Amino acid sequence: MKTIDELLLANRAWASDVKERDPDFFTHLHYQQNPDYLWIGCSDSRVPANQIVDLPPGEVFVHRNIANVVVHSDLNCLSVIQYAVEVLGVKHIIVCGHYGCGGVKAAIEPPEHGLIDNWLRHIRDVRRLHATELEGLDHDRLCDRLCELNVIEQVRNVAHSTVVQEAWRNGASLAVHGWIYSVKNGVIKDLKTTVSSLAHYPKNSR
Ligand SMILES: [Zn+2]
Repeated sequence: MKTIDELLLANRAWASDVKERDPDFFTHLHYQQNPDYLWIGCSDSRVPANQIVDLPPGEVFVHRNIANVVVHSDLNCLSVIQYAVEVLGVKHIIVCGHYGCGGVKAAIEPPEHGLIDNWLRHIRDVRRLHATELEGLDHDRLCDRLCELNVIEQVRNVAHSTVVQEAWRNGASLAVHGWIYSVKNGVIKDLKTTVSSLAHYPKNSR
């Protein structure tokens, strides 16, 4: 493990390396951020947003929590979405889960994890919603599919947020995507669940 001082030294080296390659890099970033993407991902240390899509600082606005959950009343996540959509004007919101997610695995187990079980309850709800499809799967397959279904449900939750619905009503060009990342090989799979307008939703499910 690196010491805290070593991390600070590494930061100095990184900053001077970036500046050497692009002398104006930090000056530009200092004045504005102009990301086209909002990333909603898992807090897992193996899934760093910018790195896995190879984008530099300034290009992705990021919100991460355990198991990339978007809760209708989570003011933290909703504020991020509002700022990203209304102020930064992002064009894409990407919900990116990952296989082997510890949060999803824990939600499959009996609820004995303390406080976090309240958060994992949202994933248990996803399992209950898709109980028929998930019935009979072995543990690994159940975990993989629940990771995927969790992303699909969170895309819906983003699309149902007042901010996104309002943006679409105002004609904004904004798409919400669902992706899943494999920690085993570094590859992202598009779950083909993209929503880009109110027309994607039957009126009674908006
Ligand atoms: Zn995770």
